[in-house]
Amino acid sequence: MQIVVPKEIKNHEYRVALTPTGVRELVGRGHQVTVQAGAGEGAGFTDADYASAGAVLEADVARVWSGAELILKVKEPQAEEVARLTSGQTLFTYLHLAAEETLTRGLMESGATCIAYETITDRQGGLPLLAPMSTVAGRMAVQAGAHSLEKAQGGAGVLLPGVPGVPPAKVTVIGGGVVGENAARMALGLGADVTVLDRSIPRLETLDDRYLGRMKTVFSTADAIEEAVRDSDLIIGAVLIPGAAAPKLITRAMLADMKPGSVLVDVAIDQGGCFETSKPTTHAEPTYLVDGIVHYCVANMPGAVARTSTLALTNATMPFVITLADKGWKQALAADPHFAAGLNVHGGKVTYPAVADAFGLDC
Ligand code: NAD
Repeated sequence: MQIVVPKEIKNHEYRVALTPTGVRELVGRGHQVTVQAGAGEGAGFTDADYASAGAVLEADVARVWSGAELILKVKEPQAEEVARLTSGQTLFTYLHLAAEETLTRGLMESGATCIAYETITDRQGGLPLLAPMSTVAGRMAVQAGAHSLEKAQGGAGVLLPGVPGVPPAKVTVIGGGVVGENAARMALGLGADVTVLDRSIPRLETLDDRYLGRMKTVFSTADAIEEAVRDSDLIIGAVLIPGAAAPKLITRAMLADMKPGSVLVDVAIDQGGCFETSKPTTHAEPTYLVDGIVHYCVANMPGAVARTSTLALTNATMPFVITLADKGWKQALAADPHFAAGLNVHGGKVTYPAVADAFGLDC
């Protein structure tokens, strides 16, 4: 199969959909891989790395797209990319269509087969191609929070682990899923005093077992959140209610009960945020102050660590890419209902019910 890897063009996107290791796997199976010149630069892979793995390097973006049977990307296609898509092509990437009507209609008009990373499921009911980025964001949340607690960033001037004779900072993580567990684990590793709030008892049991009680687990109620607000130096928002906007768990009025210079890191900002005062920020200007409380609300946290994120993402996507390349989309999806859950658009129609519902389209 003719597989292509365009250079990502979304603002500040440095990841790439396939590493030289992935090229070698695919070429070894008899496929042809064309990589757009410079596609891997942001993640630390040179054109020479790709060439020595067996890829053809192509500088002309139009030629990259026109020769493709399977297109591998990271972010949803931008308008000029949608215009290049044609029927008969298969696109495999993050799409997040439910909030993007123009993009959805563009993909329908292209006639292409569009498979989204984020809706592929696994046997445990998880989202295996979303989880690696949640892992990255959860781990980064503590780095970002620790930095934001420094005086120069508007923080209270608190060091997470404390020092001998000075107690550690109190970190509360609201939502103990993939993001929350990874954040809590990092905070624990740094020596902070860590509490995780969740509404799922099985989830709290798992965390309690896994960390042998070293992180406190608390059932998430309005009372528990109010107590966390009063006591914590750093609060990390990591809740998710699938398919819905994040609930606003900390209101503006509650900020008055926080210690001045405390920090809120809202990882759930990509679902609207779980604090009333959250608004999306960028890596260029990640924080702002509201009533003396530092807010960090970067919507694409993994982008800042593009190399780690690329490696984590491609580790997870690779088995699916190989199956798509070897079998073609029809056979690959027919053989695996979890993979089939990734199909969002085909033959001019939306095939994913939640996206169709969002725009009143037939499915
Ligand atoms: P997840 O489904 O693994 O975990 C979410 C957890 O929130 C679940 O355990 C759930 O029980 C819990 N929860 C729901 N309502 C709650 C409440 N009221 N109180 C306490 N807990 C509650 O999801 P995840 O993969 O950890 O993702 C969490 C959020 O982070 C999502 O919104 C996701 O989109 C976002 N995210 C953001 C970035 C970024 O760059 N900002 C990157 C990755 C993920």
